[in-house]
Amino acid sequence: METDIIRLEAGLYIVAGPIGNLGDLTPRAAEVLRLADVIAVEDTRVSARLLRHAGSDRPMVPYHDHSAEGVRARLIERMASESVALLSDAGTPLISDPGYKLVRDARAAGRSITTLPGPSAAIAALTLSGLPTDRFLFMGFLPSKQKARGDVLGEVVALRATLVFYESGPRLSECLAAMAEHLGDREAAVSREISKTFEETATGTLTELSARYADAPPKGEIVVIVGPPGEAPPASAEDADAALLEAMERLPVSKAAGEVARKLGLDRRALYDRALELKG
Ligand code: SAM
Repeated sequence: METDIIRLEAGLYIVAGPIGNLGDLTPRAAEVLRLADVIAVEDTRVSARLLRHAGSDRPMVPYHDHSAEGVRARLIERMASESVALLSDAGTPLISDPGYKLVRDARAAGRSITTLPGPSAAIAALTLSGLPTDRFLFMGFLPSKQKARGDVLGEVVALRATLVFYESGPRLSECLAAMAEHLGDREAAVSREISKTFEETATGTLTELSARYADAPPKGEIVVIVGPPGEAPPASAEDADAALLEAMERLPVSKAAGEVARKLGLDRRALYDRALELKG
């Protein structure tokens, strides 16, 4: 008697895997891994463990967005008649992981695309942080060079959003200090080893957290969540005088008053009167 062979429709299947705890692989993701014609992976040794857990014996091909163009083109071609699963070493593909170019090209070629949603360290850490979740920006890994890191942080300093960073233990303290310097000493949370045996989340200001990890770089995988900027405290009379005196060195009185009014959110007319007093 012939047995029915269940086949997946042809196309691309984006499969989210666990971020540490194999129990977080969804049944639907496991089924796709068992049925796909081929599984595109970052590292065959890492994914072999998950495939064993899922009961899959499907063939793997290594894939990165910087793989030779031919590798991607061949996968896109195969998606016309076969099911191609995309799997990362951990969590959701495309999130600080390969896959963007594969999805882009699959879409351009009109292939069917299905996503199997699941864990991502960014979202898991956000839910643990106790910081606002209504508006957040995923920042991925910061550049390791000091200047480039400062530039990236400078781009988002005024953004009223919680920021999500991926980080590694050895760089953690230094990165937290750089965040405090460029973003201000905001509330933050450091989550490490989420869903694994040594999971922990520490909260505090960026400066406190930087000090905590300075002499003891933590092991394992880390996400840093940084809260949005607080309301700026109203400028004091001393701040206003200092800003006026500085501006008047460069500008006529009325322009100096206008500039300081804009910068500090104060009344222009009152600043103009005060500027005349200071000048006199
Ligand atoms: N695609 C993955 C996802 O959806 O989260 C992220 C891949 S990225 C190459 C790896 C980084 O994610 C790690 O360096 C760490 O910052 C973070 N990460 C992954 N697993 C984690 C975990 N269990 N706990 C904390 N952070 C984790």
